[in-house]
Amino acid sequence: GKAAGGPRVITLMPGDGIGPEISMAVIKILEAAKAPLIFEPVDVTPVMNSLGQTSVPEQVIESMNRTKVGLKGPLMTPVGTGFRSLNLTLRQLFNLYANIRPCRSLPGVETVYGDVDIVTIRENTEGEYSGIEHTLVNGVVQSIKLITRNASLRVAEYTFQYALAMKRKKVTAVAESAVMRMSDGLFLQCVREMAAKYKSKMDQAGIKYEESTMTTVCLNIVQDPKRYDMLVLPNLYGDIISDTCAGLIGGLGLTPSGNVGTNGAIFESVHGTAPDIAGKDLANPTALLLSSIMMLHYIGLHEHGDKIEKAVLKTIRDDNVRTMDLGGKAKCSEFTEALIKNLK
Ligand code: ATP
Ligand code: MG
Repeated sequence: GKAAGGPRVITLMPGDGIGPEISMAVIKILEAAKAPLIFEPVDVTPVMNSLGQTSVPEQVIESMNRTKVGLKGPLMTPVGTGFRSLNLTLRQLFNLYANIRPCRSLPGVETVYGDVDIVTIRENTEGEYSGIEHTLVNGVVQSIKLITRNASLRVAEYTFQYALAMKRKKVTAVAESAVMRMSDGLFLQCVREMAAKYKSKMDQAGIKYEESTMTTVCLNIVQDPKRYDMLVLPNLYGDIISDTCAGLIGGLGLTPSGNVGTNGAIFESVHGTAPDIAGKDLANPTALLLSSIMMLHYIGLHEHGDKIEKAVLKTIRDDNVRTMDLGGKAKCSEFTEALIKNLK
């Protein structure tokens, strides 16, 4: 369907390294698919704010606050002290509390695991990554694992809404509540409460709910990833398991991601800036393209998302047009053209 009130404006952060090339490829494909979108490009080169911290330019904040939806290429994290990671800055600025990573093996891209189709939803703002650490006495440090009811409930709620909207099969809540009784206990309790709230809708849709521990999931996921469909986890566990899932489908190169928050959402590829191949028309735009498909679903343009996804599969699997990272010879621009031909 068409977005109400004309095309939707999207903040575009092309990023560094291969970012501009793959962003251009993705925009060409979205245009060819007639997605009713207008891209507003902004530059995310870090600036110093009045507190002497690195931040993103005001233009990025202004644009995101207005559009609420961003598409982002990989960013170079400047090295040196005093630099906060830009990704972290964006996450905090827009309160992006849930990180969503669908990991689905692309038919035709061989992996030892066969068909994998797992969506991880990771709490993105607290847990061990709260960044609250201090020295108690010389040689003794302490790090705070912060878990709140508020953050746990909202990530849980997003999980069940996503499961229903995307017609998933099962949600597994993952924590170590027998060991971290209070912190993981609270997280699990919150997911359970949300499961109860959504129970009738989930039952109607035939979506199951279960609970497991981090250690069990680690063991099972590498033995038989088909056991899992959707996982919801606290921050650190989610970070580990979402990278594990990316590994199951052949690495970070094909993995899309979404960061959803109270003030909007940013969709991005998981891979880095790939400086070794930047500017050579060799990069694979698939991860950013799959991220843009997540974005289309997020803003309700499901048909456009499905159409582009079919074209991705056809291009890689049936036509065997692949970039170098997938063992092919196609340049980024050739892959893009071939994919556009497959849009129907
Ligand atoms: P960064 O510092 O930004 O993380 P990096 O040097 O760690 O960059 P990555 O971008 O993480 O490099 O990539 C690791 C390897 O995977 C590189 O050899 C890179 O060329 C390759 N790679 C990453 N993304 C892509 C892509 N989209 N298409 C093709 N190759 C890629
Ligand atoms: Mg890297």
